[in-house]
Amino acid sequence: MDYKVLYRKYRPADFNHLVGQDSIKKILVNSIINDKIAHAYIFTGPRGTGKTSTAKIFARALNCLNPQNGISCGECENCKNFNQSPDIIELDAASNNSVDDIRNIVDSVNIAPTNSKYKIYIIDEVHMLSTSAWNAFLKTLEEPPHNVIFILATTEIQKVPITVLSRCQRFDFQRIDKAEITEHLKKICEEENIKSEDDALAEIAFLSDGCMRDALSILDQLSKISEEINIDVLKQNYGTITNDDIEELYVAILHNNLDDLLTKLSDIKKCGIDIKLLLDKMIEYFLNKAIALKQKNVSNNAFKQLKKIINSLNDLLGKLNSNSNGFLMLELELVSFINDDEVNLSSRDINQIISREIISKDTKVDVNEMLTANDSSYYKVTKEFIDTRINNTLVSASKENKLSFIESWKEFYTYLDNNDLKEFKTILKNSIPQIVSNDYALLVTKSESTKIIGNKKLHELEIQFKKVLNKEYKFLFLNEQEWKNFLSTYDKDKKYELIDETIYINKDDNSCQLAESIFGSNNVNME
Ligand SMILES: [Zn+2]
Repeated sequence: MDYKVLYRKYRPADFNHLVGQDSIKKILVNSIINDKIAHAYIFTGPRGTGKTSTAKIFARALNCLNPQNGISCGECENCKNFNQSPDIIELDAASNNSVDDIRNIVDSVNIAPTNSKYKIYIIDEVHMLSTSAWNAFLKTLEEPPHNVIFILATTEIQKVPITVLSRCQRFDFQRIDKAEITEHLKKICEEENIKSEDDALAEIAFLSDGCMRDALSILDQLSKISEEINIDVLKQNYGTITNDDIEELYVAILHNNLDDLLTKLSDIKKCGIDIKLLLDKMIEYFLNKAIALKQKNVSNNAFKQLKKIINSLNDLLGKLNSNSNGFLMLELELVSFINDDEVNLSSRDINQIISREIISKDTKVDVNEMLTANDSSYYKVTKEFIDTRINNTLVSASKENKLSFIESWKEFYTYLDNNDLKEFKTILKNSIPQIVSNDYALLVTKSESTKIIGNKKLHELEIQFKKVLNKEYKFLFLNEQEWKNFLSTYDKDKKYELIDETIYINKDDNSCQLAESIFGSNNVNME
């Protein structure tokens, strides 16, 4: 059981170190301060929420010779010898649930504590006791000697007889807040010199579903297999997804892109995340987006759509049971939002959502901004580059491609217009798509200056275009003379094959290096 090392090591010894359960903490501490101790307690709640830890902390404080404001001192003899104390009796009812086990307890309660104020029985998983064991126990529980305290713990309170509950002071433990777990993990990482990224720790907290024990065992295992705990390591070893993954689902829904939606869903399914956790996470994500829309007063239609999505996910969460294929149901729900007649999102709505950062900008856009700031060209626009792009555009050029691209181009223009991106707007206004393939577009400009600026801003335009239209295109601008020259030499019978463009990327460019040093080379768009 090596992996429980951190959990054991960081098991809290007193109330100051207990994470979460603040109200329970407060009541128990006050009961010690005011010396109002009950004779039987029952702690109930999900596993890993601190029931047994709290029972021990409370027991230690009860027998502490010098408690400080209701908290054990940690220095006195009783505190130091707590783990060996004969007056603290722990019993796991999962394995000791017979009448005989309980009779042993009943017989021993009348023997006075050895060297403490109280003799304290901590019985874990108490719902596992057999009926006859309960019967043997009831009388003692009703009238225990004045120096005996029972602390019962259970994850299944409904299985505990009502006659027992009525004799106990009950405390309901809640799942521990994710932020509190994250904070605790962070402290442990610092203490243990474990390198970690904050968002990975937050993700572990999410995966643990409010259970500190699980969170610590994940941390433990990851720290053994990797030097640094980051999202990638977490993803490789545990079925989890990040907000970026959900963002991609949302973008696919916004653009009514069924293919992207299904591909992304299939990726998420492959990572093996628990469906309930996935739904929780999605609801949280969409809720945050909905709030952001309201706060920034952006698109009421988009808000309505999000509300609908949240409701449907919430319903699904309620309907989940062990027999249902939750993932299939989720797929069905999300697919129903593609081309949903009831939701009418205009491209203006979508532009607003993107431009007002309701959807966070991806790193590619940040790279772009840095490039703009440095005013450097991403591509080396040489004669060879131009020839290569023309060639590549011709590989799969078609009239259909051109027609659909013109629609996108108009949409792109509306976006630039709405967002007052003047420089790009001028380029678009003064150029006409002439040849379009599946992923290349050749644009002819009315003036030489537009051509020059257009080709200088080529990469930025491509990034903006992708951001707005969710389609990846590569552009090239030609002036009218160049276009005429091209037409006069164009050979319609020639077979064109794609030529690698990598050599035309300005890899030595400072701004690229700067971007790379911040985002890592994978994020820099060097096709
Ligand atoms: Zn003490």
